[in-house]
Amino acid sequence: LDVVSDVFDSLLGQERAVNALRHYAQHPVHAYLFTGPAGSGIHEALVAFSAALQCSDAGCGDCESCRLALGGADSDVTFIERTGVLWNVEEFKEAERISRRVPLGRSHQIVIIENVELTAGSVGKLLKILEEPPRRTIFLLSAESLPETLATVVSRCIEVPFSPLSDEVISNYLVQQGFAMMAARAAAAASGGDLRRAQVLVRDAELALRIATWQSVPENLDAINAHNAALALEISAMVDEAMKPLLALQAEELERLTANAKAMGRRSLPGRKEIEVRFRREQRRFRLDDVCFGLSALTHVYRERMVDGLEALDDGDRRSRSIVTGAVASIELIDLASRSLRANVDEQLVLTNLLLSLARS
Ligand SMILES: [Zn+2]
Repeated sequence: LDVVSDVFDSLLGQERAVNALRHYAQHPVHAYLFTGPAGSGIHEALVAFSAALQCSDAGCGDCESCRLALGGADSDVTFIERTGVLWNVEEFKEAERISRRVPLGRSHQIVIIENVELTAGSVGKLLKILEEPPRRTIFLLSAESLPETLATVVSRCIEVPFSPLSDEVISNYLVQQGFAMMAARAAAAASGGDLRRAQVLVRDAELALRIATWQSVPENLDAINAHNAALALEISAMVDEAMKPLLALQAEELERLTANAKAMGRRSLPGRKEIEVRFRREQRRFRLDDVCFGLSALTHVYRERMVDGLEALDDGDRRSRSIVTGAVASIELIDLASRSLRANVDEQLVLTNLLLSLARS
């Protein structure tokens, strides 16, 4: 067996993508597009691949170039920062400006733009900067999904697909990290194939309790609106608690990166502002995922209610018709709430409205 040790070693469960990247690092072209779901390791792969592109040995993991790029300290590797939900033209202009710089080092000028699916009106600008970049510039793009509007962008890049991680890969990894098998399995199952989310959930002693709270919502609803609104507040407070392991993980990461930068002779951590922006985005994302995960646990309760009702109807119990219609209406309300949250409607507003409407249906 050929054991390779390089910058890609730490990427979990993505053998196909990693093999492709090892190959591409030898003969790079000017643009790559990494596609796959959140938590499949795309951000880490972008960092590893940029190191491989800078390394004279295609990513040995050991030389100065590799260490600088892996530590986020290579000034020829730039993650373009997005301030809003969607990319805007100004941000792509900044990407273009950087892409035109001559690299300070001997290798490439690498410009990384994550989540290019969030472009809306500025796809034209993105396409323009991908056209005829300077010889030593390489664009690394990533997207969680490929809407039709991106078709021309895709056609200008080599696509590198990443798959969601299986529960087994995730739980094995967590066990290797020293977590108990039961906790690792529960976190993997609740993570939706997202390793980062699993790493937070496995540190979360309250995960089972949180799922149980969501599942008990139907029995805790009341005819009194104020009571239901208070329940929505309680749920939000519970999600606040769920954020704590993520905040701790981010603090550890910042500490580690700062220590690395110091070890490399830097007085402060390069790109600290960008890292903090990324952390805040990750927090919003985690919170959204956590609430949507709770909503799916709640949907499950109504779905069981619906199935039981249908069975009772089959057995001739006519009274269960109203149970079925109520459960169906509830499932629709929850689905609507999920979509509102994903469209950035205020969480507290959505949850309160949801519980008030569920109490009536
Ligand atoms: Zn190297």
